[in-house]
Amino acid sequence: ASVFENVAAAPADVIFALTADYKADTFADKVNLGIGAYRTEEGKPWVLPVVRKANQILVDDGTLDHEYLPILGLDTFRKAAINLILGADSAAIADGRAGSAQCISGTGAVYAGAYFLSKHYPNKNVACYISKPTWANHRAIFEGVGIPVHEYPYWNPATKGLDLDGMLQTMQDAPNGSIFLLHPCAHNPTGVDPTPEQWEKIADAMKAKGHFAFFDTAYQGFASGSLDKDAYSVRYFAKRGFEMFIAQSFSKNFGLYSERAGNLTIVAKSPEVKNRIESQIAKAQRANISNPPAYGARIVSLVLNDGTLYKEWEDNLTTMSDRIKLMRQELVDELTRLGTPGTWNHITDQIGMFSFTGLNVTQSKALKEKYHIYLTENGRISMAGLNTKNVKYVAKAVHEVVT
Ligand code: PLP
Repeated sequence: ASVFENVAAAPADVIFALTADYKADTFADKVNLGIGAYRTEEGKPWVLPVVRKANQILVDDGTLDHEYLPILGLDTFRKAAINLILGADSAAIADGRAGSAQCISGTGAVYAGAYFLSKHYPNKNVACYISKPTWANHRAIFEGVGIPVHEYPYWNPATKGLDLDGMLQTMQDAPNGSIFLLHPCAHNPTGVDPTPEQWEKIADAMKAKGHFAFFDTAYQGFASGSLDKDAYSVRYFAKRGFEMFIAQSFSKNFGLYSERAGNLTIVAKSPEVKNRIESQIAKAQRANISNPPAYGARIVSLVLNDGTLYKEWEDNLTTMSDRIKLMRQELVDELTRLGTPGTWNHITDQIGMFSFTGLNVTQSKALKEKYHIYLTENGRISMAGLNTKNVKYVAKAVHEVVT
C-alpha cells in the first residue's frame, strides 16, 4: 500500500475549476465572468502597450543575465513599489521607516507578511479578521500559517453596500492588538469601498484598540484609473502613524499575471525595527523561495522609474478602468431597459474588477447551466468579461433568472 493511502483528496479551487468548465464548454456565445483578469472589447487578454515597450527595452539592452536576484528582490523595483503605494512625499519613506520584500506577486506578499506575523507577533494568540466576504485566499493563507481567522461584517445585502456599523462594532469588540486585513480599493469580491470619511472612522476604531493593519492591494490604478486615489486609504493610515504591512500585486495593473511581480511594503515605527523585520522576512524567504523571479520586477521597475513610460502606463490604466466603468453602465442601462425587477444601481456604484450582483446561488447556477455564463455562486461577476457584444445577452439572461 502507498505511504499516502490515507491522504484525502483536496477540493478543486473554485475559480480555476470554473475557468476549466468554461474552456470545455462548446457553446458559441459562452461568457466567462469568473476569473479576475482583464479582457479587451474582443474578449482577449491584453498585453499592455507599455509592457510591450518595456519588454523590448529589456531585450535590446543585451546586458541582462539570469543571475539570482538578492533574497529580498530587485532594489529598484522595491523602492519604486514603496513609493507607488505610500506616495513620494511619504514621511515613512523620508524617515527610513519604510521597507519591503519583493514577493511572488500579491499572494506571496500576503503569505510573507502572514508568515512573519505568525512567528513574531507579540501576542501568540492573535487572530486575523477578514472581511465577510473576501478573497478566498485570505483565510487559506492565514490559517495555513497557524493564525486563527475571524470575519468582520462588510457587505450589507439589504443596502448592497458597506456594513460600516458592523465593521466598526467588530473592531471595537475584537481583543486589543488584533490583525485586520483590509482592501485599500476595489474590494474583492464586492466592489464596495469605504469613502474617505468612512476610512477615518475605521482608522479611529483601529487606533483605539491598537489593531494591526494589513492592507492587500491588488488593484492600484486599475480601480479608478488614478494611482493616487486608489492608494488613499493606505496613505491615510500611514499619516495616522499606523505600523502596517501592505501586500502589493502587479498582476492586474500591469497585466503581468503569470510573472508573479509583487511586493510586501512594511511601515514600521523606526528604521531599526524596519531593518529587523526585513531581515526576518529575508530569512524566511530564503527557506521558502530563496529569491524572487526577475522578469516581471524588471518590467515594473523600468516603467515606474521612467517618466515617459510611467505616463504611458497611466494611460493604459485609464483604458482598462474606463472600459470596465463603461461595461457597468451598459449592464445597468440594459437591465433598466428590460425592466428587470430589483435595483441595479449598485453595479455602477461599485468599483474595480468585480461586481457583487446580489444574484443568489440558484440564479448564479442557472446562468451557468442554462445560459453558459460562468460566475461564482456568490453572484460575483468579473466586469472585464463583459463587452459590447455580450452585455445584452448577459443582461437578458440575468433578467430571465430573476423573473
Ligand atoms: N489580493 C486580492 C484581493 C486579489 O483579488 C488578488 C488577485 O485576484 C490578489 C491578492 C493577488 O493576486 P496575485 O497573486 O496574482 O498577484
